[in-house]
Amino acid sequence: MAGAESGSQKKVFDAEAASFLVKELRESFGSGRTRSYEWRVSQVKALLKAVVENEDQIVDALRSDLAKPPLETVVYEVGMFKNSCEVILKELKHWMVPEKVKTSISTFPSSAEIVPEPLGVVLVISAWNYPILLSLDPVVGAIAAGNAVVLKPSEIAPASSSLLAKLIEKYMDNSFIRVVEGAVDETTALLQQKWDKIFYTGNGKVGRIVMTAAAKHLTPVVLELGGKSPVVVDSNINLKVAARRIISGKWGLNNGQACISPDYIITTKDCAPKLVDVLKTELENCYGKNPLESEDLSRIVSSNHFARLSKLLNDDKVSGKIAYGGEKDEKKLRIAPTVLLDVPQDSLIMGEEIFGPLLPIITVNKVEESIDVINSGSKPLAAYIFTNNKKFKEQFVKNVSAGGLLVNDTVLHLVVHTLPFGGVGESGMGAYHGKFSFDAFTHKKAVLYRSFAGDASLRYPPYTDTKLRLMKALIGGSIIGIIRALFGWS
Ligand code: NAD
Repeated sequence: MAGAESGSQKKVFDAEAASFLVKELRESFGSGRTRSYEWRVSQVKALLKAVVENEDQIVDALRSDLAKPPLETVVYEVGMFKNSCEVILKELKHWMVPEKVKTSISTFPSSAEIVPEPLGVVLVISAWNYPILLSLDPVVGAIAAGNAVVLKPSEIAPASSSLLAKLIEKYMDNSFIRVVEGAVDETTALLQQKWDKIFYTGNGKVGRIVMTAAAKHLTPVVLELGGKSPVVVDSNINLKVAARRIISGKWGLNNGQACISPDYIITTKDCAPKLVDVLKTELENCYGKNPLESEDLSRIVSSNHFARLSKLLNDDKVSGKIAYGGEKDEKKLRIAPTVLLDVPQDSLIMGEEIFGPLLPIITVNKVEESIDVINSGSKPLAAYIFTNNKKFKEQFVKNVSAGGLLVNDTVLHLVVHTLPFGGVGESGMGAYHGKFSFDAFTHKKAVLYRSFAGDASLRYPPYTDTKLRLMKALIGGSIIGIIRALFGWS
């Protein structure tokens, strides 16, 4: 582990230390060991073992960082990571095989293949809300693709960060896989170095800093950002099921502190009061009459975020719009599930990603108007629609651009490893999960094989009209064109 602190002596992790670290990893990567299937599998298994053997410590770390309910940790942090490893262990051999592809007549005789190769030494910078999954999921993708990796976990989840550093030091091959703990200074030192890929999860403001630093070295980036993920609720649906699925995606995911949790609801003026009633009943079923005391809700991560959310709630434009909840406990950093009805679009809460337990509802006359409402803002990371109307569903899928769409549920698209997970526009670039994680850290090298046979004089000077005709026909790729050119027919 490289860290801001090591043993009793405080070490500064500055640009010099970062440069040394990258140099060391580059030398190790140069040995070629990470390229073998055996090394990759041994490291995926080691990381899986680290998580399985330390599940209790992970639960404790998340409890300390976020008061995250153990069930959420076991399912979303540990369980999802285990699934990622299992998919890799099952599929990796197949992913690593070069893909034979067709060639064209212009290179005849020849064969071609796409050879997947590791990018080299990569940096993963992760966020605090799912500090284990968002760290280890990209790391295991990078390992599967045969790279050396440095992980920089989030300082906002210190117990998880320190646990990750310990586990990686203990279980992994540290010639290739390291953790650097720290905050802005340490990340800045890391970003000054030349990497072969930077995989960043977090907000768009820092995403811009990451991309600017990467541009200096022409380093490609994956940016896993956030945004305001809308939920459209049509009338004439099973409102109870819809409300429960919204609750599970919003408050059941780290109390709204998740990148794909529903940010706001759009529904019709007629449907809104009914939806609020069902939400109230179902929220009480889930979290009781005093949700501030519920052990099934995470707390707000920090006093800064608590103050930010309080400001959104205290805005004059919405303070009278609370239809349910609104209770806060500043000392315990707890905010109850809160539903706000008929929130104006120019309110603070509609101006930024909420990332917390507040859920505003916007009303429209006709549900189809929701598409324009969504498209008038930045492209979200996820967009959800609850409807039984086939035509509206098709319209939605066709016209709404978002990282991912989900019809009649929330969040679950995340667990389907055959779907890419990533944003578009302001919600990010690049994607991962399943094979997409392998691809995110792999260069697809184009290789063409020729022999010494078939060395036609036609490509060599002196150039003649016949050669020109033939070359044009060859590039066109049509046999008939080539025959016509050979016979001098125009
Ligand atoms: P954060 O505060 O943990 O920051 C993310 C990382 O950026 C940390 O490792 C931090 O050390 C680093 N960082 C912070 N300031 C920096 C600076 N000035 N220079 C360099 N590095 C810096 O997390 P956050 O940004 O609060 O995370 C929440 C955001 O992330 C939300 O917008 C959320 O939607 C998004 N998010 C996206 C995903 C996804 O998978 N797309 C997942 C989780 C969170």
